[in-house]
Amino acid sequence: MNQRNNHRVVLFPLPLQGHINPMLQLGQILHARGFSITILHTNFNAPDPSSHPHFTFRSIACGLHRSEVSMSDIPDLISLLNTQCASPFEEHLREMMSLPGGDAVPIACVISDSLFSFTCGVAERLKVRALVLLTGGATSLHVYTILRLLKEKGYFSIDGLSGSRSEEAVKEFPSLLVRDIPGVHSQKPEMVLELFDNMIKVIKSSPGVIFNTFEELEQPALASVREVLSVPDFVIGPLHKCYVTSSSSSLLEEDRSCISWLDEQPLKSVIYVSFGSAAVVREAEILEIALGLANSKQPFLWVVRPRLVRDPEWLKKSPSHFLEALKRRGKLVKWAPQMKVLAHPAVGAFWTHSGWNSTLESISEGVPMLCMPRFSDQGVNARYVSDIWRVGVHLNGGLDRENIARAISTNLFIS
Ligand code: UDP
Repeated sequence: MNQRNNHRVVLFPLPLQGHINPMLQLGQILHARGFSITILHTNFNAPDPSSHPHFTFRSIACGLHRSEVSMSDIPDLISLLNTQCASPFEEHLREMMSLPGGDAVPIACVISDSLFSFTCGVAERLKVRALVLLTGGATSLHVYTILRLLKEKGYFSIDGLSGSRSEEAVKEFPSLLVRDIPGVHSQKPEMVLELFDNMIKVIKSSPGVIFNTFEELEQPALASVREVLSVPDFVIGPLHKCYVTSSSSSLLEEDRSCISWLDEQPLKSVIYVSFGSAAVVREAEILEIALGLANSKQPFLWVVRPRLVRDPEWLKKSPSHFLEALKRRGKLVKWAPQMKVLAHPAVGAFWTHSGWNSTLESISEGVPMLCMPRFSDQGVNARYVSDIWRVGVHLNGGLDRENIARAISTNLFIS
């Protein structure tokens, strides 16, 4: 154990996998620098303390339970968390500050997710230093800063959603197409806009923001947001590459059998398929994905987490063509140790929903991506992966078995 520096950092992650991971990674980095770490977390989607025995964990009762919460309405969930967590957060912080015993190491700073709107205000009242962590990329943040303008320009009208303008370039942000704009496909665009407005307000009024990215990747966006936000910033990333550990912050149990399966596959032959922790697919789509993988002829490792598809019987109902391919050259898991998978030499490509963590993890390992963005910042991430950074391609032409097989065989695994 390295020497402690008698300063505690309290981390408060938003209870979603893509937000918990970078926050706990930041905790690992700070711990390695000598800070004591307290993870203040909601009882909903609580991280597993046994995976991080060197951290202290404190649970906030937020009144939400996994079985009752719909993960398909993330803006609604975030708004609920902001309502339910404000008072208990303040109570816990007060209590920690007054504790003479257990948490005796004084609090040097609170770092909270930038989607929590109340934390900096509470910290200011209690005279504790505070920072916020942005768990998405700087480019998507840059886009959020012009979303209101894009709304005024009519991009969120019916035409923008799915109509004739969907494939047009955005005049005000020419690297994007209309369909890439965060919230443009949402049933409740106003709620999405409000969420990002709040986030920008939080960052602007915070004492400082931490970016999980690196200058070489997002320099132009970082320069733009620095101008708009004018708050101190710290670019630390990719966070998962800034420390060495084998501990994971997965909310679901990782199926490690996929690593021994990968050990048996030829070098750079496997397509790893995962759509993250929140995206859902319809029954008809899962059938096309399954048949696309079967038709592609590549070995595949596919994460089908509970609730990715509504019908739990989908596999039993799958056509024999897919089940045979699965037996011969496929592996299905409910949750994978993704960073280990992407670092495995057998993995040659990643079919992803283009969440920011997945994007950074794939870029870090040099794994090309097939992008299938679903919502939020994913359209922006995918556009930059394919058109600007050129480390992947879009699944253009729809979620259709032949199209999928073609994209995998001709774009990702060129023989
Ligand atoms: N992840 C994982 N195992 C899986 C699928 C995902 O460990 O089977 C991790 C992945 O490494 C990433 C996070 O879950 O760190 C997903 O975050 P991302 O921002 O990519 O997407 P989100 O889940 O927020 O949509």
